[in-house]
Order: sequence, then C-alpha cells, then structure tokens
Amino acid sequence: MLYLVINDHSGILLNVYRCLNKHHYTIDKNEYGKCAGNGKAYLKLYLSDGELPLPPSIESELLNIEGCTDILYQQPEDGTEKGSTDLKQAEQEDLKQEVEATVNQILDNYDSLESIVFSFAQKHHNEHGSNDNYRLGYELGKAIYLEEFAFGKPLKLELALKRMLSEALKPFGKISCTNQVISIENNKLCNPANEHSHCDFCKGFMTGFLHQSSSTKNTRVENLSCRSHGQASCSFEFH
Ligand SMILES: [Zn+2]
Repeated sequence: MLYLVINDHSGILLNVYRCLNKHHYTIDKNEYGKCAGNGKAYLKLYLSDGELPLPPSIESELLNIEGCTDILYQQPEDGTEKGSTDLKQAEQEDLKQEVEATVNQILDNYDSLESIVFSFAQKHHNEHGSNDNYRLGYELGKAIYLEEFAFGKPLKLELALKRMLSEALKPFGKISCTNQVISIENNKLCNPANEHSHCDFCKGFMTGFLHQSSSTKNTRVENLSCRSHGQASCSFEFH
C-alpha cells in the first residue's frame, strides 16, 4: 500500500494520478485519512500495477508535488511511525534547503560544477544517495532551463533534445544526439566509482530541464548505458 502524507488537499490528487499514470502505475482506489498521532492528513492509494517501494526518481517527483510531504508504505498510525514521519519530514526539509543552496553555489560558479557535484555526492553516499543526487540534478536542470532556454515557442521533444538539452549538457562531456538518444562520452558528471549509480545526477538534470517546457513536461528519461557500469559513454533515451 502507498501512503502520501499531505498538507493540502486541493489539486493534489490530480497531480498524483498524473505522476503515477505517467510511470504506468494504476490507481484503483484512493482514500483520505488522518494520522492518529499528529493529525496530519494522508492519501491512501490502492495500486493494481507497478511495484512498491517506488523507485527513488518517482518518489522524488511525488515529493516535488506541492503539498506532498512524505511517502510511506505502511499505515501511518502508531506512535513509532509518527516519530519517524516527523524525522523524515525534517530530513526532507533539510535536503530541500541543501539542494537549493548547492544549486545556487553551482550557478555562481559554473566552472566548479564537477567538484561541487562530487562533494555533494560524497556527503550523500548513503542509502538515499541516488535519490539525493537525482534531486540535485533535477533542480539544477530546471534552473538552467529557466535561466537560459525558457524563451520562444516550446520545442517538440526531438528539437528540444538537439537544440537545447545537448547545448546545456556541453560542460558534461562530448555530446552526440540522434533521434531520441543522447550520449555523453567521458561524462565528467557520472560517478564511475559507484556501481549502484544509474547516472542519477545526469538523469535528474535532463528530467528537470525537459519538465519545465509544456511540450516536454511528461518526458521520461531512461539510462541505457553508464560509465559506472563499465561502458565508455553514458547514454539516455527519451520517451
Ligand atoms: Zn553515467
């Protein structure tokens, strides 16, 4: 079962449905409830398709929805759960602030992109590492799009990949773009030392970048190959 702790009902259900449907999860039924301990509202979702727990990238998208503050896989009612909910929420808030500060640091000093991203990754080398790196990438990609590319008519996916995203990825390595695949040769922002990585930072960057434009806001990014798994380049397909 999937529970989302929420602090605002308005519009949240629609956004949650959109997000989960996009990733091929089917919601059979939903119910609202209140946590016994702290009185916080939650949304309980009965899913017929898709595995739980959710992959970090989807968790991260859900937590980006306004009003959605936590994700749980058990009924948030007893005292112990409440304690950990509060803690998780505080951690999420800390992470949000740290990501924001790190994005600003990068934007002020883009030449140090690589070293700033790696010190962040080192600090977050834990069970949530993938998720945290994805979040940093997502927020940076979003900021770069909004600062440098959000003018003119929204471009369709293939043109957006060719004319905008490939351009924005230049500091990462040598970029090639064919059809709906982008490859980054000797990707400096990949973390080859971590075999559990799926190029989380880069994937987050591309997703955050594309999701700001109305014509590419539902694009899914899939990591096809990665230096951290021994391949020469990191490549990504877009749907
Ligand atoms: Zn990679």
